[in-house]
Amino acid sequence: METNAANRIICIGAGPAGLTAAYELAKNGRSVLVLESDPHYVGGIARTIRERSAEGEFCFDIGGHRFFSKSQEVVELWNEIIDNKMLTRPRKSRIFYGGKFYPYPLDLVRTLRNLGIIESALCGISYLKARVMPEPNPKNFEQWVSNAFGARLFSIFFKTYTEKVWGMSCKEISADWAAQRIKGLSLSTAVKNAVTRALGIQSKGKIKTLIEEFLYPRLGPGMMWEMAARKIEAKGSKVTLGKKVCALAYDKETQMWNVTTTDGVTESCAEIISTMPLRELIHAIKGAPVNIIAAADKLHYRDFLIVALVLTDRKTFDDNWIYIHSPEVKVGRIQNFKAWSPDMVSNPALVCYGMEYFCFEGDGLWTMPDDALVKLAGEELVRIGLADAADLHNGYVVRQPKAYPVYDHEYEAHVDTIRAWLDAQCPHLQVVGRNGMHKYNNQDHSMMTAMLAVKNILAGNREFDVWRVNQDAEYHEVDTSSTSGQRHVPKRA
Ligand SMILES: Cc1cc2nc3c(=O)[nH]c(=O)nc-3n(C[C@H](O)[C@H](O)[C@H](O)COP(=O)(O)OP(=O)(O)OC[C@H]3O[C@@H](n4cnc5c(N)ncnc54)[C@H](O)[C@@H]3O)c2cc1C
Repeated sequence: METNAANRIICIGAGPAGLTAAYELAKNGRSVLVLESDPHYVGGIARTIRERSAEGEFCFDIGGHRFFSKSQEVVELWNEIIDNKMLTRPRKSRIFYGGKFYPYPLDLVRTLRNLGIIESALCGISYLKARVMPEPNPKNFEQWVSNAFGARLFSIFFKTYTEKVWGMSCKEISADWAAQRIKGLSLSTAVKNAVTRALGIQSKGKIKTLIEEFLYPRLGPGMMWEMAARKIEAKGSKVTLGKKVCALAYDKETQMWNVTTTDGVTESCAEIISTMPLRELIHAIKGAPVNIIAAADKLHYRDFLIVALVLTDRKTFDDNWIYIHSPEVKVGRIQNFKAWSPDMVSNPALVCYGMEYFCFEGDGLWTMPDDALVKLAGEELVRIGLADAADLHNGYVVRQPKAYPVYDHEYEAHVDTIRAWLDAQCPHLQVVGRNGMHKYNNQDHSMMTAMLAVKNILAGNREFDVWRVNQDAEYHEVDTSSTSGQRHVPKRA
């Protein structure tokens, strides 16, 4: 183990990317210092919160975190970190709309049965209308989806949830996103799929395991990252909490970076792997030019908060999560953490539901006091019919800033500008992960970027281009035959 600061590597952030980098470096005998701003948790957005009360311990994620990857290297690393102790969990998720539950992924027969004869007929007429008189030049998400499915099905299965997640009207979202995201799916293929499913024929290319089951650590994703941190420390490296990086300065003479945290401490190192949001990184780098700071300031985020409600377990549903399309409530998705892993709730008489709200930092939801949010979440759960008011025990609120990097029409150009400047002016600094690269990476892709950055450090060059990860990912909700390409997020029309 090299302990000399001249060879030391600093990883900024102890999320999946920062800890993967630190783990791989420590395994290869390198000395690493991980600086994490959170005072309590490792795991970043994939952390697991643990709350205790007299009634027991309640574990919940920042949204449920499925572990899936097409990269064998990532799956092997998960198993290595967690000593092969991942659970394989059945997946069940449904859509709630108009007082009814629809299976998700959608099943045509049950969907029509739920809609009833009249609504199904109206959807059929609206579909035929769209076929006969489509919008000739669909520019936005609403027009594109209405052309494909009819305006009525659009309003039931696409409009409200999309608008809750992204905080913008479907009229403002570019049609490109619908074309990519829902590529290959039409009402006729949905009918064909329903028939083949009813006949028990498996559609070609379907990744059964990714749709019907997933891997999950017994005590949530945080368990994975807590074990990673312990193993990194066991190899002599350090994972430090409550250390928010606020300044980075490169010394050309010594070819060392000086990294300062908000507590005033400065640490030196030979290499940096950063997972802190790209916008903040640029502001922290000493001497970053005005045009690069301006580009960084144009990167935007969608934020998120979760209200974890503890209730008497009446076994009202066994889904892992339910998408809430109903416009009457603000909640976007409900997680049932006991269905993810029974050990997430220590008291068998209780359940813990995660009420997920998509928001912007500083908006009405974000600034609502915690007790008001717990009250709102409880009322919405009762309104949906998943609990009685008398079942509610208590609730916890966690706000997650920068949950989603926003892909607006100009973000790519700004990221390219920043990237070119970092490559040219910031030697021995690599950015990886989700917000670190302003890329819509899941855990696996965040980890892959970190693994490549480590390979570059170990080889002493920049042979691997971390930006190429997640260029060819497939969206795992549906058959591989129907979609491919990058993991998609909407752009403005
Ligand atoms: C609601 C939701 C559901 C998701 N579901 C899934 C899923 O099912 N499966 C899946 O694989 N992925 C899922 N993801 C994505 C997953 O959470 C991310 O891909 C992953 O956490 C990214 O890892 P990261 O290390 O790049 O970034 P992060 O997790 O954001 O970690 C970055 C770390 O850096 C720290 N940091 C930030 N600034 C500083 C600073 N200045 N100084 C020091 N430390 C700093 C942060 O506190 C954080 O700990 C989901 C994300 C969301 C929002």
